[in-house]
Amino acid sequence: LYNQVQDLKGNIRVYCRVRPFLPGQSNLSTVGHIDDGSITILTPPKYGKEGHKSFTFNKVFGPFATQEEVFSDTQPLIRSVLDGYNVCIFAYGQTGAGKTYTMSGPKVLTEQSFGVNYRALNDLFHISKERKDTFCYEISVQMIEIYNEQVRDLLASDGDIRNSSQTGFAVPDANSVPVTSTTEVIELMDIGQKNRAVSATSMNDRSSRSHSCLTIHVQGRELASGVVVRGCMHLVDLAGSERVNKSEVKGDRLKEAQHINKSLAALGDVISALAQKSSHIPYRNSKLTQLLQDSLGGQAKTLMFVHISPEVDAVSETLSTLKFAERVAMV
Ligand code: ADP
Ligand code: MG
Repeated sequence: LYNQVQDLKGNIRVYCRVRPFLPGQSNLSTVGHIDDGSITILTPPKYGKEGHKSFTFNKVFGPFATQEEVFSDTQPLIRSVLDGYNVCIFAYGQTGAGKTYTMSGPKVLTEQSFGVNYRALNDLFHISKERKDTFCYEISVQMIEIYNEQVRDLLASDGDIRNSSQTGFAVPDANSVPVTSTTEVIELMDIGQKNRAVSATSMNDRSSRSHSCLTIHVQGRELASGVVVRGCMHLVDLAGSERVNKSEVKGDRLKEAQHINKSLAALGDVISALAQKSSHIPYRNSKLTQLLQDSLGGQAKTLMFVHISPEVDAVSETLSTLKFAERVAMV
């Protein structure tokens, strides 16, 4: 099935996506050469003698890659959810590099600009309809946010997670809302975004300093045998990976930055331990990896999209993003 194709590629893969220049930006790029699986960054002299550095990933999408092209490589992974597999898709990168664009799309959505999450749900609904004579599928979604190692339910008006029992699938006690169409999901995601904004009163753009996770649960019952398969997919828009200068920030902002650094490092540690088939996988070092434990490792499939900005000003963040990604991708 879909899964056999996937097995050939392994359970962990890393894709790099380069954001195009935005209107009004100067077009001096740090991105030298891109081919299907590698990218070369041109570095100013202070970052190394040679003046360029290459990185290899499972796939590299240049600035002109469309949402559809990016999704088409993700599609088989999504389909394996219907066969009972667990999947995690992460968007990593500094703020402004295009994480939300990949996962959701731009602020004003058109069908062409739909991100991975809408396309994934469209696909799931579509295939479940195709299979309706042999399978009965139920699909439901959860939306949570992790901010300063605290989990909030974005589909509960008070945000509270009742008695989150740290085990099992994602956040067992967060609202899980049954859905039957992409339109319903878009409405739910609007509600989630609004709940997220409400809590951001005193902080500007909290969304870049928290992780948000859309979880899709799929349960399929084979009509003839009554056998039930369950799969789930987590689509995670991670907090911005930019390093903050400790001498410049204090108090809450420093605390936020420390939580973000710690949880992104913990995620990197878990994925690279899995890639190396290490006997100890350090899930317990962050809320994010604890919550996703059942969907990271084992038979589960992981895809990390790392995003970079093309601007010369961003070169130092770009290099640290690519180094993180390379460590994760190393098998
Ligand atoms: P992040 O979530 O990493 O902070 P965003 O996804 O919000 O970054 O992207 C920053 C800006 O760049 C947004 O205005 C977004 O619409 C735009 N953008 C990002 N990636 C692309 C892309 N591949 N094509 C066109 N515009 C993009
Ligand atoms: Mg974002």
